[in-house]
Amino acid sequence: MGQQDKKSIPMELLSSLFSGGKGNRALDEQAWLTVMRLPLFDGLEDAERARLRELADQLLADKAFSGAGGIEVEDGMATVIAAFAALPVLNLGYEWYQDWREIVVYPGEYVFDGELMDEHGIVHHVRHERSGEVLEGGPMVLSWEDVEHSGKGEGYNVVIHEFAHKLDMRSGDTNGRPPLHSGIDPAEWAREFQIAYDDLCRRVDSGEETVIDPYATESPAEFFAVLSEYFFEVPDVLKREYPAVYGLMSRFYRQDPLARLN
Ligand SMILES: [Zn+2]
Repeated sequence: MGQQDKKSIPMELLSSLFSGGKGNRALDEQAWLTVMRLPLFDGLEDAERARLRELADQLLADKAFSGAGGIEVEDGMATVIAAFAALPVLNLGYEWYQDWREIVVYPGEYVFDGELMDEHGIVHHVRHERSGEVLEGGPMVLSWEDVEHSGKGEGYNVVIHEFAHKLDMRSGDTNGRPPLHSGIDPAEWAREFQIAYDDLCRRVDSGEETVIDPYATESPAEFFAVLSEYFFEVPDVLKREYPAVYGLMSRFYRQDPLARLN
């Protein structure tokens, strides 16, 4: 989505942006009240909302927000991002988001135009449109226009998507498997996610109009990030399509959004 001017971020600009200060935002009350009324947060109990707010406060104090492509990140915008980001770690704790600092916000989808080195040390020139991305151990980039489309209970949430990548990366590999709590069998996780991933790939390849965004078939990492969006935004869809994956995600995130939203 996004019809705005496409901006590109040269790598030099990226690195200069990421020297910013720490925790430069305060929670905006009006923005908090507004975002809490979105369908995504339906059914949360008062104690959960209080914990969500604590996590959002921690995020605002910990991350350095900056705007790019001509946008100023106001506290209200940072508050919306923090609210979405807090939900996945509601029962995990803020420490899951530590070890990186920068969140850069673009007005809309932006064109990434720069060089990336792959795991073999080969540098590729890449240029494509993005609504968000994360760099391992490094910054998160978000399109504000996409943030504004998030939280509506329609299966789309760029903030949850990018933060899910950050959780995934904590295992050392970006492979769709975050560090698992004891009690979750890694073999079961690998098996059930693989079955679901293969199923979606097969359906997309055969031209089927899938209810789950075909972008999830890009890689196991994208599968986890996209399905995390469905888990929180439209848990009924995920539970219907891939019940075993829903169950594993529920044990990982320690939440049952389906029970909460119904
Ligand atoms: Zn992604």
